[in-house]
Amino acid sequence: MKIGFIGLGIMGRPMAKNLLRAGHALTVCDHHPEHVAELAAAGARAADTPREAAAGNELVITMLPNSPNVREAVCGEGGVLEGAAPGTVLVDMSSIAPGASQEIAAACAEKGVKMLDAPVSGGEPKAVDGTLSIMAGGERAVFDAVRPVLLCMGASAVWCGEIGAGNTTKLANQVIVAANIAAVSEAMMLARRAGVDPARVFDAVKGGLAGSAVLNAKTPMMLERNFAPGFRIDLHIKDLGNALETGHAVGAPLPLTAAVMEMMQTLRADGRGGDDHSALVGFYEKIAGETIA
Ligand code: NAD
Repeated sequence: MKIGFIGLGIMGRPMAKNLLRAGHALTVCDHHPEHVAELAAAGARAADTPREAAAGNELVITMLPNSPNVREAVCGEGGVLEGAAPGTVLVDMSSIAPGASQEIAAACAEKGVKMLDAPVSGGEPKAVDGTLSIMAGGERAVFDAVRPVLLCMGASAVWCGEIGAGNTTKLANQVIVAANIAAVSEAMMLARRAGVDPARVFDAVKGGLAGSAVLNAKTPMMLERNFAPGFRIDLHIKDLGNALETGHAVGAPLPLTAAVMEMMQTLRADGRGGDDHSALVGFYEKIAGETIA
C-alpha cells in the first residue's frame, strides 16, 4: 500500500522500517530531520509536513507522543486533513486519551477520512522485531481492511470496540504495568530490609503465582541498576494522567493508579523522568535510604 507515516521516534522508526521491509511505499515526516533522513536511507520518501505525508496515500499512520501532538498533526495547519483525500484511512497508533481519539475521529469524518485508534504494547524491542501487541478501536470493517498492514508491525492486532476502545484498552494495560512495577519494587525493598537477597526472591517466585512479564523484564533491570529506557517515566506519567482523566470522566475510581502516579511524579521532580519506568524502585530506595541491589 501507499502509506504516510508521521512520528519517527523510538517506536515509529522501527515500525516504519518494518512496513518498508514488507514492501509498502512510505512517505515519512517528523520534527527531527535526522529521523527522516534515517528512513529516507532505508527507502522512504521524505515529506516536510503531515499534509505532504498524507497527500496521495491510501493510509496514514501516526505514532506521536500524546493527544495534543496528534491533534496538531492531524487537524492543525499543514496537517493530515489538509492533504488526505476522502476515503483515506488514518490509523493513530500513539497512546492518547480515548476522548481525544473520538474528537479527532469526528474531525476526520467531516473530511470523509475514517480513523482507527490502534495503540501498541511491547516497547522498542517488539517494535524492532515486528511483534507488537496492537489494540484497535473504530469501524470493524476498516479494521479488517488494514489488519494485514498492522500485522507487518505486530504479532497480534485485536479489535476492541468503537473509536477510543483501543486507547481505553491501552490505559488498562498501563494501569496493570504501573501497579505491577510498584508491587515488585515494594516487595524487593521488603526483602532487602529483612535481609533476604532480592535476586533470590526473584528466582524463587518467578515460576509461581507472583510471576509476570513485568517481574521478568523489570527485576533484572532494577538489580543491575540499568535504567536506560525502554519506556520512560515521563511517558508513563502521560499515560497515567490520561487514565486518571478518563477514570474521573466515566466514574471509575483508580486509587492504585493515583498512588503510583505520585511515586512517578516524585521521581520526575528528582530529574529521573527520562529513566526507564523500572526506576520506580528508586521511590522506595529514596524512602529507605538504601538500594535493593
Ligand atoms: P518519541 O518521543 O520517541 O517519538 C515521538 C516522535 O514524534 C518524535 O520523533 C517527534 O519529533 C515526533 N513528533 C511530535 N509531534 C510531531 C508532529 N506534529 N509532526 C511530526 N512529528 C512529530 O516517542 P515514542 O517512544 O516513539 O512513543 C510514541 C507513542 O507510542 C507514545 O504515545 C508512547 O506512549 C507510545 N508507546 C511507546 C512505547 C515505548 O516503549 N517507547 C511503547 C508503547 C507505546
